[in-house]
Amino acid sequence: MLPFTLEKVTSVQAAIAAASSGRRFIAGGTTLIDLMREEVEQPAHLVDINMLPLSEIRIEGSDLVIGALARMADVAAHPDVQRLHPLIAESLIEGASPQLRNMASIGGNLLQRVRCPYFRMHDAPCNKRTPNSGCAAIDGLNAGHAILGTSNHCVATHPSDVAVVLVALDATMQVRGPRGERSFPVEELFRLPGDTPHLEHTLLPGELILAVRVPGGPYSRRARYLKVRDRASYEFALVSAAAALDVGDGVIRQARLAVGGVGTRPWRLRTVEKAMIGRAPDRKIFETAARLALEGARPLSDNHYKLELLPRTIVRALEMTGEAA
Ligand SMILES: Cc1cc2nc3c(=O)[nH]c(=O)nc-3n(C[C@H](O)[C@H](O)[C@H](O)COP(=O)(O)OP(=O)(O)OC[C@H]3O[C@@H](n4cnc5c(N)ncnc54)[C@H](O)[C@@H]3O)c2cc1C
Ligand code: SF4
Repeated sequence: MLPFTLEKVTSVQAAIAAASSGRRFIAGGTTLIDLMREEVEQPAHLVDINMLPLSEIRIEGSDLVIGALARMADVAAHPDVQRLHPLIAESLIEGASPQLRNMASIGGNLLQRVRCPYFRMHDAPCNKRTPNSGCAAIDGLNAGHAILGTSNHCVATHPSDVAVVLVALDATMQVRGPRGERSFPVEELFRLPGDTPHLEHTLLPGELILAVRVPGGPYSRRARYLKVRDRASYEFALVSAAAALDVGDGVIRQARLAVGGVGTRPWRLRTVEKAMIGRAPDRKIFETAARLALEGARPLSDNHYKLELLPRTIVRALEMTGEAA
């Protein structure tokens, strides 16, 4: 690990000022320190934001507001989260390990880097680590890689579980930077790789995530997160699905659906949602709608199985929403 300086700040203003002069925020450090140890990330100056008052989880009207520094474990265990949005809790419990969840923050989770093995291998070409060096995964080991939103420059999936749920639930994020405060849908945080895969998110220089806001909806209790992976715990998703349905008078009135493990960013499936509206929530319509998720899919040499696993995971997650109701 290369030497670096660490500055602790106690106000949001001081944090933004420090980051504006090129310093990097550090929260739980579970991603950043890991990558610094491997010298994939080499920031010379860090700003420790853990003393900022951004850990609160609260209700505002029908919205759930989660501070950027709230820890994954605390969010998962919070009674309001479990009562209003159980699938947020479910997605957090399914991620990482208990030790990591105690350290890791929601803001850091959204900004975690890819888990493509080549990203961490200095002797392999990787456009994300070293722009214009190539992509070792396209003709290499790519069983865990994406089939949606890929480009000829990068095919890595976004690894966050809770991001998939937040995108499904139309959550927004509140950020503040040198140019003031703004909020936008969590979905818009994530860039497609295109020909600039090293640019992963839409935050402006010096912008700090303050909080995530999740609107309430009639679908939020009939909702489930299903994560399919190689091991039952401590493993990233091969495919995951966050599904929420509002059912009344025997038909689906509203649907929310996003998937993980298959897209270069958390992948919202509006076409699938639309295909279910006004239909009875049964396996037949789930199966028909789920096939639409494959629109634009581009499998790689080792991940054709995701073409089958993705619709199956969606169907199972939709069926499980009935069990949650
Ligand atoms: C072994 C292992 C297994 C894991 N498994 C899973 C899994 O199954 N599912 C899953 O979803 N995640 C998983 N993770 C990822 C884990 O959830 C993230 O490492 C963690 O959430 C990052 O949070 P942090 O607070 O530690 O971020 P940090 O490491 O402190 O920061 C990460 C990045 O976010 C930036 N940042 C942090 N906070 C802010 C803020 N408020 N505003 C602006 N920028 C900010 C930092 O500058 C840095 O670039 C795993 C991690 C490990 C190490
Ligand atoms: S898939 Fe992306 S992260 Fe992986 S080697 Fe290619 S460019 Fe790098």
